[in-house]
Amino acid sequence: MRVRAFTIDLAGKRGYDLIVADPEATVQDYLDALEQLTMNDSIYLSRNVGGQCEGCDRCCGERIPLTYIDILRLKRSQYLQKVTGGRVDLRYILDRFCYVVVEGPSVDIMLRTGEDGYCIFLDRKERRCFVYPYRPLVCQSFFCCPSSRKARKLREAIVNQGEDELVRKWLLDAGYHGEDLLIHEACDPKVNPDDWPPNCFTGKRYYWEVRLADLCSPSLWRKLTLLSNQKRLKG
Ligand code: SF4
Ligand code: SF4
Repeated sequence: MRVRAFTIDLAGKRGYDLIVADPEATVQDYLDALEQLTMNDSIYLSRNVGGQCEGCDRCCGERIPLTYIDILRLKRSQYLQKVTGGRVDLRYILDRFCYVVVEGPSVDIMLRTGEDGYCIFLDRKERRCFVYPYRPLVCQSFFCCPSSRKARKLREAIVNQGEDELVRKWLLDAGYHGEDLLIHEACDPKVNPDDWPPNCFTGKRYYWEVRLADLCSPSLWRKLTLLSNQKRLKG
């Protein structure tokens, strides 16, 4: 595997750490490594005494920031195709399923929640996700267990840059259609399009197209690849 996730003890709890074993590793490799981790029942999931994610909805009531690739994935889900009748334009998807908050120059685009504070894609009766195979990156990459600093930094870098590209698309979409910006909540909005230049997510439609090397700072990349480089040298 190009990214390896493995369990380690962190402050007396079983958490996880990551290494990148191949400089060409992508965001999809990262997600696949985390998916493997869910099969390891020794990690300490602090919010669920049952120790498993299956059947648990405790993280579906939190802020879920989105990437542009998340939006593309959600549009491919059977659930969205059914409830939208195949309507796919970005403004409609953002208005119906997302929530756009602007505070001064900063923009946050997240999944919409219901009156109860839970995600709109949560089946309230069965407590299961309607879009599970297409759920956003934040849902795929969160575990309520300790993780190493570099694992947290990598997740943060992916989520932030992925969301930045969604904000750029949100700005472009309004400009292209000559419409006002779609905003659900605002406090003294001062959005400057120059704050959202193209980045490593630009033009990408799948997570396997985004290389981790392109979104990490040099120091984070050194830390993520250090162990694998050492093993290679020893080998
Ligand atoms: S990560 Fe989320 S779904 Fe999994 S056990 Fe923790 S709260 Fe529940
Ligand atoms: S998309 Fe699914 S997994 Fe993510 S918060 Fe919503 S219901 Fe939970």
